[in-house]
Amino acid sequence: MSIADNLLKYKSELDEVKVKLVAVSKNHPVDAVIAAYTVGQRIFGENLVQEMVEKAAQLPKDIEWHLIGHLQTNKVKYIAPFIQLIESVDSLKLLKEINKQAVKNNRIIDCLLQIYIADEDTKFGLGYDEVIEILRTEEFAACKNVRILGLMGIATNAASEKQTQVEFNELKVLFDGIKLSFFRKDDYFKEISMGMSSDYQLAIAEGSTMVRIGSSIFGKRVIKHWKEAES
Ligand SMILES: *Cc1c(COP(=O)(O)O)cnc(C)c1O
Repeated sequence: MSIADNLLKYKSELDEVKVKLVAVSKNHPVDAVIAAYTVGQRIFGENLVQEMVEKAAQLPKDIEWHLIGHLQTNKVKYIAPFIQLIESVDSLKLLKEINKQAVKNNRIIDCLLQIYIADEDTKFGLGYDEVIEILRTEEFAACKNVRILGLMGIATNAASEKQTQVEFNELKVLFDGIKLSFFRKDDYFKEISMGMSSDYQLAIAEGSTMVRIGSSIFGKRVIKHWKEAES
């Protein structure tokens, strides 16, 4: 099946009013993004700043770019002018830098707080206590140019269905608690980004509002560096 066919399958399956589809185009060339764009896809996810910046420069301006990978503070400035959503905020230090760059660009930058839900050492993210601590700080309250739309999480890779479901449920429960305690009156705090190619159906059943799908739209990421695919 082509990229367009794969995408149309997702678009007919998902209720996009309830669940947004982020097409994860990392490691795939600009042409792949265009193939998806042509059949109506507008939200694309990338995990590397440089790759996103170079692609964005070559692609239509109405694409909404989501950063889904770990972000170093010294790279925030490169994406601050155009980023639609930073899904992977995992420290107060990073949040403060995003706020600083948002001020410089005279805009509000939307973010998700990435929560560590997996049973692995390799994944970035905030612990349950850590996220609450951050939300309680005056430093957070002072970040007026950052808007937190919700939470993001990555389940344990290749875990059992039961374990994956438990992890997604924990994220949903945390989201509900944080919503009540910190964002009760804020309509914008409504996103739970969870679910990838292998587990998006479980994620939606547990309350996901945003799924990040890569390989089952674009195929396997066989290219080590995305630029090789273009030459
Ligand atoms: C790569 C990636 C995805 C997409 O994964 P697939 O299994 O290819 O669908 C989703 N979320 C994050 C954070 C990723 O890095």
